[in-house]
Amino acid sequence: TLSWDPRKVTYDQLRRIILDVPSSEKAEEWSRYYTAGPHLAGKNLSQAVWTKEKWEEFGVSSQIVAYDVYINYPVDHRLALIEKQEQEDKASTWRVSYEASLTEDIIEDDPTSSLDDRIPTFHGYSASGNVTAPVVYVNYGTFQDFEDLLKANVSLGGKIAIARYGGIFRGLKVKRAQELGMVGVILYSDPGDDGDITEEKGVAPYPEGPARQPTSVQRGSTQFLSIAPGDPTTPGYPSKPGAPRQPVDGAIPSIPSIPISYVDALPILKALNGHGPAAGDLNQYWTRNIGLRYKGVHYNIGPTPDEVVVNLLNQQEYVTTPLWNVIGIINGTIPNDVLIVGNHRDAWIAGGAGDPNSGSAVLNEVIRSFGEALRLGWKPLRTIVFASWDGEEYGLVGSTEWVEEYLPWLNEANVAYLNVDVGVKGPHFSASASPLLDNIIHSAARSVLSPNQTVPGQTVFDVWDKNIRTMGSGSDFTAFQDFAGIPSLDVGFGSGAPDDAVYHYHSNYDSFYWMENFGDPGFIYHKAMSQVMGLLTAQLADLPIISFKAGHYAESLEKYVSKVEDKLDALISPKAMDVDSMSEEAISELRGSHRETSKVVDANAYNPRREARILKEDLSRIYKSLGHLKAEGEQLDREAEILEGRIREGIPWWNLPARWFLVRDIRSVNQRYKYLDRKFLYADGLDGRPWFKHIVFAPGLWTGYAGAVFPGLVESIDVEDWENARRWVGIIETKILFSASDLAVRK
Ligand code: GLU
Ligand code: CA
Ligand code: ZN
Ligand code: ZN
Repeated sequence: TLSWDPRKVTYDQLRRIILDVPSSEKAEEWSRYYTAGPHLAGKNLSQAVWTKEKWEEFGVSSQIVAYDVYINYPVDHRLALIEKQEQEDKASTWRVSYEASLTEDIIEDDPTSSLDDRIPTFHGYSASGNVTAPVVYVNYGTFQDFEDLLKANVSLGGKIAIARYGGIFRGLKVKRAQELGMVGVILYSDPGDDGDITEEKGVAPYPEGPARQPTSVQRGSTQFLSIAPGDPTTPGYPSKPGAPRQPVDGAIPSIPSIPISYVDALPILKALNGHGPAAGDLNQYWTRNIGLRYKGVHYNIGPTPDEVVVNLLNQQEYVTTPLWNVIGIINGTIPNDVLIVGNHRDAWIAGGAGDPNSGSAVLNEVIRSFGEALRLGWKPLRTIVFASWDGEEYGLVGSTEWVEEYLPWLNEANVAYLNVDVGVKGPHFSASASPLLDNIIHSAARSVLSPNQTVPGQTVFDVWDKNIRTMGSGSDFTAFQDFAGIPSLDVGFGSGAPDDAVYHYHSNYDSFYWMENFGDPGFIYHKAMSQVMGLLTAQLADLPIISFKAGHYAESLEKYVSKVEDKLDALISPKAMDVDSMSEEAISELRGSHRETSKVVDANAYNPRREARILKEDLSRIYKSLGHLKAEGEQLDREAEILEGRIREGIPWWNLPARWFLVRDIRSVNQRYKYLDRKFLYADGLDGRPWFKHIVFAPGLWTGYAGAVFPGLVESIDVEDWENARRWVGIIETKILFSASDLAVRK
């Protein structure tokens, strides 16, 4: 029979290989290797070399690409509660009433927790400093939380903030505290945010059970990542040795911060008891998920009186030091079509069995699978680049510098970027993506059997909630999607359902032992994720037509505009919110936004409702342009389908003209798909953060992890800058019309 695919290893055979090769045993072996000791950014050369050698052993030629980047390593820290005491002779002395340990317990069962060279608890890109001041409890430290504090007239200037982790990216908590004149920030993990899996509710903590180990500490970067990721001294260009360096002010904090466990937070939170308003007095958001009442914490806001202060010392050493990306390449036959698949290798802790090395194990299994295909004589249509990034944890540094260096080539050649960071931390498939790629996520998920089947034969797709989030930030897809306009996706098996084991994010207990016993016993989800990643890669790299859906892209943009409309409606006719009936996601979206409620306005001259109504009418221009984009997009998708049919039918070898036309038509369709997302880049970038060039996707200015859609427009509405909002409507409309007309032109 005449197959469309005359190659030695056909696409269908490749898919078989990708489903057959990955093994749980191998994934476990890679996990064991990567988690055997510290591999902090810039301190993991041996793992970079090992990774390169492994990939070459698998049959993929690889190299190490280095950058000189500005990062910090911990030197010293201290956190103490100090109280003034009156003596009998009326003199007073200061007494240290609590000295925080700032270390995580050694657990006998978990060898990672007792390594001699384990990494201290600290924040990436944190400022050195030694401050002593009263404390204020600031809830999650979101923009809205600080607005609530301002409204309640809580004194913030000169104080140290204690915030719980959660809701938004940690660096943005520090950013807002700093802007409001606070002098230091303490971040702790409240067990109330662990749902039902808590000691309070009778669940044993790790390692006996799945609840949070009470001394666990979440390290992590405090870079202002919604302003720009990457090396803060080289925004927009690569940190090659000798590159000119910019001052870092505005990109990283200037006040010190440290992360602590809830055990270390308890005495400080208790010292707040009885001081200032109760959390619930501010509003109902403040008492959601609080988890330390049973330990005697009343969740007062403070500040503590001047006689009760905290000493926070954070000493960091800043260096400009090499870091190492490993880049592997399989050359394709189509010139200048490249697919990139990446994972970061660096971890905050000696282990990192979830973050990032579950993803590293997955990537190795994907490469091993493709290596197997290569051995059987396969050659992909498109070039595939595999990347093991360094320095993600500090601020997506390895991937951002690489994208900045190769931007002209990526702009020309890069079809898509596929990311896997935490490949496995639980059993629930989770994805975020550019809508161009939704379709391939569905088809990959349909082709992989779920490791957890309640009905035999269930696929990952069958047991998935089918929710694909928009891209925010917090991992290595950011420079690709938001800076270079390359459609990206990010997948993993996640946790967070009521009965999932607590994931000890950025803590010593994100270890091999935890993964083996709680996260993924048997490494079955590692295997499934390898199959999913492999199929995603194959579908984009090895089918003649790029598997994008342009009509769906336009539809998604319509949905995003309707979200903007909802926002305006809420301004036009505000209604009371029922917090208890809202999803966590809706709440965090609401609480993560940054409407300046305290804005003072002249009631006569300025009417926000009227302005919102006018802008809402303006949105019809965007809808109209999207109508064109949708029509052209659907037309392109139809052309693609017809071509797929023609390819499947095949053309006899002697009919050279028909073959020539087919190749020409395929190329035309692919060119239009390939550059569609690029059309949404705006050279000047977003207001106040020009590194972010995409007019549709960016991390929320005050969320970081969660994505904002049409960020320029939405942020203008948030600060009620109506003129700028109208400017953005114009930019968006123009970009959409331009991309629509481009789709209409056959290449
Ligand atoms: N995954 C890292 C974190 O969430 C990313 C750091 C960053 O984007 O700056 O801490
Ligand atoms: Ca740079
Ligand atoms: Zn990660
Ligand atoms: Zn991380």
